[in-house]
Amino acid sequence: MLEYHRKRNEEKKNRGTIPVSDAVEMSQIKILPIILRNKIAAGEVIERPASVVKELIENSIDAGSTDIQIEILYGGKRLIKVSDNGKGMEREDALLCFERYATSKLLTEDDLFNIRTMGFRGEALPSIASVAKVKLVTAPTGTYQGVSVEIQGGEVRAVKDSPSVGTTVEVRDLFFNIPARRKFLKANNTELFHIIDRVTENALSHYEIGFSLVSDNHETLRIPVASSLKERIMQIYGDEFLNGLIEINTEATHIKMNSFVARENNFRNSKAYQFIFINKRPIRDPSIAHAAYSAYEGMLPQKKHPVFFLFLTIDPRTVDFNVHPSKREVRFENKESIYHFVQSSIREALPQAPRSMPYESLSPSVVSEALEFEYKTSLSFIYLGDAFIALSGREGLALIDQHAAHERILYEKFLRGVDINSHRLLFPKQVRLSHKEYRVILQNSSILRDFGIEIDDFGHDTIIVRSLPEVLTEADIRGILSDIASCLIAGVAPDKEVREALAAKIACHQSVRGKTILKQEEVSQLLSDLQDCLHPDNCPHGRPTRIFLSLEDLKKMFKRK
Ligand code: ADP
Ligand code: MG
Repeated sequence: MLEYHRKRNEEKKNRGTIPVSDAVEMSQIKILPIILRNKIAAGEVIERPASVVKELIENSIDAGSTDIQIEILYGGKRLIKVSDNGKGMEREDALLCFERYATSKLLTEDDLFNIRTMGFRGEALPSIASVAKVKLVTAPTGTYQGVSVEIQGGEVRAVKDSPSVGTTVEVRDLFFNIPARRKFLKANNTELFHIIDRVTENALSHYEIGFSLVSDNHETLRIPVASSLKERIMQIYGDEFLNGLIEINTEATHIKMNSFVARENNFRNSKAYQFIFINKRPIRDPSIAHAAYSAYEGMLPQKKHPVFFLFLTIDPRTVDFNVHPSKREVRFENKESIYHFVQSSIREALPQAPRSMPYESLSPSVVSEALEFEYKTSLSFIYLGDAFIALSGREGLALIDQHAAHERILYEKFLRGVDINSHRLLFPKQVRLSHKEYRVILQNSSILRDFGIEIDDFGHDTIIVRSLPEVLTEADIRGILSDIASCLIAGVAPDKEVREALAAKIACHQSVRGKTILKQEEVSQLLSDLQDCLHPDNCPHGRPTRIFLSLEDLKKMFKRK
């Protein structure tokens, strides 16, 4: 058997090089040997350990598995092992599957435009096998007579009988033969985060399958078979998170949507919770994302992002999945009707918000933002709407955006780390996070402590919050932790910038929301605290906190000058 494969390997190397003739010898153009072709394909399909995980999970899904177990070592750099209980492969197929363009998922050209499986390009396994040390163990359902195939850098090393159930693929030492690629891999933890993202995506789109992820011998995710998408979202993110979402089920010709989207008051500071799936395949599509945003028009505060999990089912004949090797992008036959379908489905599920009034900003030539006058406790003021405070002062009129002002004050307090007034909670709060958030929060607990937030590990993706700054006791602590986490995950920035970003996020959560009407003393306090700030004129996001119209300005506006 081994002899046969040695020969095959030889043939494979030579196949594709043109038979010797003088003319050809002189030609500059060469047809690449197979191993090199596979390495080139791997360049597109396999970017990092998470890409291997994604491809192997997709194969297990296509094989009809109901239980998929993933094991990794060193962020997947040393080992990625995916085991399933799917239909397995016959001996012949176990060898064929490493050949380029070998797939059981397409038969005719028509099939390419009617794709109902996750895979179809027949290039994942040969690509992976060309850049790693791979061992495949598989047995067709009900036989137990399996085979194991070992292949290294594209060359078959061993083929043996190996009784087994389902399919297991072990991928060791990714990019062992491409140092340039290996160099670009990030820290183990970062690679693990990418893997968690891929597993999470597949777990979301396949609630009928159980998943587990073990990283460096620790159980990282355990997601048993669920009976609905709703249950699956709860398994991954917890009840509290689910309560902030509305379920939407809509249908039109050739299109169906089952989705969970943010309620009208549940927005985030990042796009970490936005997922779009077409026929169970996670994709990126700016147009569909835009449709979702536009459904929140008039309710979405600036720089906030809605949560959405959109699962669209479309007739596969009207969508082209064969756009990019990683199958992340798609092309639709009728993009516009999908846009409108998504937009109106979400919009109709949300309570009709009063559309915000168009607001024309005052021309800066007549507005002076410098404001220097004493605020007294007796200062008279009025509210304009429920967000702005207007007061007359020395020689003019001051307008304060109370939310922006509060944000500035808190932001500076958090940065200075004084006056935070952290309190031990009588009843510590349990906060369930996604696994990725949970890890990054625990790793950075000391920064949180500086901000007056004391936490402990409670296991199972849950954090116990023991102390909080007084100003945060009423705030949405889950939202705060998850914002902080996404900031830390994204943040390769130097320490100082990370701290500033965190302080801004926290400040933003607690500050007086538009609707709170302050009392006389509170307004005075707000104004004098603002006056004490280092940069009192802007909130941490750069919006103005106060605008001053001097008598001079007013005269100009009334054309008295
Ligand atoms: P594709 O998925 O695009 O067909 P792959 O290279 O990923 O290409 O896999 C090649 C073939 O190997 C698949 O078409 C399938 O028949 C078989 N295969 C791969 N993984 C599994 C698995 N876990 N269980 C059963 N068959 C598999
Ligand atoms: Mg595949």
